Amino acid sequence: MKYAEIRNYVGGGFVDSGDVYMDVHNPSDGSIISRVPMSSRGDLDAAVSTAQKAFPGWSALPIKERVQVFYRYRALLERDIEELTALVTEENGKVYAEAKAEILKAMELTEFACSLPQITAGEVLEVSRGVECRIERFPLGVVASITPFNFPNMVPNWTIPNAIALGNCLILKPSEMVPLSANRIAGLLAEAGLPDGVFQVVHGGREIVEAICDHSGIEAISFVGSTKIAKLVYRRGSANLKRVLALGGAKNHLIVMPDADTEMTSSNVVASMSGCAGQRCMAASVMVAVAGTDHIIERMVEHARSVVPGTNLGPVISAEARERIERYITEAEEAGATVLVDGRNAVVAGKDGGFFVGPTIIDHVTPQMRIAQEEVFGPVIAIVRTKSLDQALAIENASPYGNAASVFTESGATARHVMERASAGMIGVNVGVPVPREPFSFGGWNESRFGVGDITGRGSIEFWTRSKKMTTKWNREHGTNWMS
Ligand code: NAD
Repeated sequence: MKYAEIRNYVGGGFVDSGDVYMDVHNPSDGSIISRVPMSSRGDLDAAVSTAQKAFPGWSALPIKERVQVFYRYRALLERDIEELTALVTEENGKVYAEAKAEILKAMELTEFACSLPQITAGEVLEVSRGVECRIERFPLGVVASITPFNFPNMVPNWTIPNAIALGNCLILKPSEMVPLSANRIAGLLAEAGLPDGVFQVVHGGREIVEAICDHSGIEAISFVGSTKIAKLVYRRGSANLKRVLALGGAKNHLIVMPDADTEMTSSNVVASMSGCAGQRCMAASVMVAVAGTDHIIERMVEHARSVVPGTNLGPVISAEARERIERYITEAEEAGATVLVDGRNAVVAGKDGGFFVGPTIIDHVTPQMRIAQEEVFGPVIAIVRTKSLDQALAIENASPYGNAASVFTESGATARHVMERASAGMIGVNVGVPVPREPFSFGGWNESRFGVGDITGRGSIEFWTRSKKMTTKWNREHGTNWMS
């Protein structure tokens, strides 16, 4: 094993947690690089009670002092960017530029947390002479963040800086498939001066997630992962009267109009569907091609041929994921779709054990086919052809998901039409991966997000805090108004 056995991080140190382990693989060659513990409820109890002890001290610090940790943390992310990038590549398989982009984004997320003292400065209103109403925000207590495999560093950093800077103590439950980055983050936070017990990592799978939903000491849960598990977590956590924000899967539609710029559109669509091996919740999954876009599709095929597994395209996360993706392609082909670029049976020299799928473009997909409806989560785009923009919008609107939607056009009026009518939380115009940047918040609609609020940016402040509305009167008059 290339890396030592993973341990939980509790109370400022790495601790043992039972003897049930799962192997961690490098998806590029299938080798076992470490082992991750499947923690028990008892392990979670220990982390929660440690966090509960740390909470009074941490939450009592002024926010200006709390964010000093994150100024230092950001500098440490920058200092160790090459090492952190390599870790993401090892456990997730991303190519260098993609893995590095995660760390750069983690730095940006941390910068936003550093601005929270200014952003949360509060509101005050003089409602009568000497009488004022003010709102102040308070942290919730011990909170949890459950994360998926596809962004081992960035998605944990969606929640860590904001939740902690706002005064909470956070327990991270990373994906058991990518546990290495989480422990490295714990080390950096400690080096940045975060007091022991404010941040903990409890590794594991279903048992720990269920225990988090049930634990009476945890006030709020943020979850990022598939829709199936997002629903489970949302229902179970809410039934236990917790605040839950659960982000789910996606099926993002890109509507391509005949007036779209050929080069920009074709390269963007291919980059969106194949970047990070299609394992992004913002990846293009369905291209709705409005009549007259054949020339753009032809150019997409050429672009896709320059996306080469093992060179500028990483593997998918596991052998099971590769089989699932290839099954979707075969099923669509059998149902009458045309495979223009076929990524099945991809071979990478010297990486026989890797889980590679090449870029895949499938034309003449009908909206009824499974590949047009379900999340494939691989470097695959299904092209559905329509006669009109309104038909294209109807297809997008019919999806149960609603993370992202984009339109490619040179017409401002067409763009505005789609921006208003697409049923998704994040919209792009001539942008294949329309991720909002801070202070705007990340969050989808429909079955891509359960709960209120967003997970990053300004939208996350409400989720990680509760407000007090305070009314005070400092004058010596009485009988002058209803507040007397
Ligand atoms: P997943 O749902 O399988 O796992 C997410 C987390 O849930 C992991 O920590 C995992 O350990 C836990 N989990 C898995 N099965 C469970 C079960 N039966 N009960 C309780 N907990 C369980 O997701 P994944 O495969 O790791 O990640 C890919 C998915 O995440 C895709 O659907 C993708 O679209 C989605 N995703 C969404 C967003 C977003 O912002 N909406 C962002 C990133 C990823």
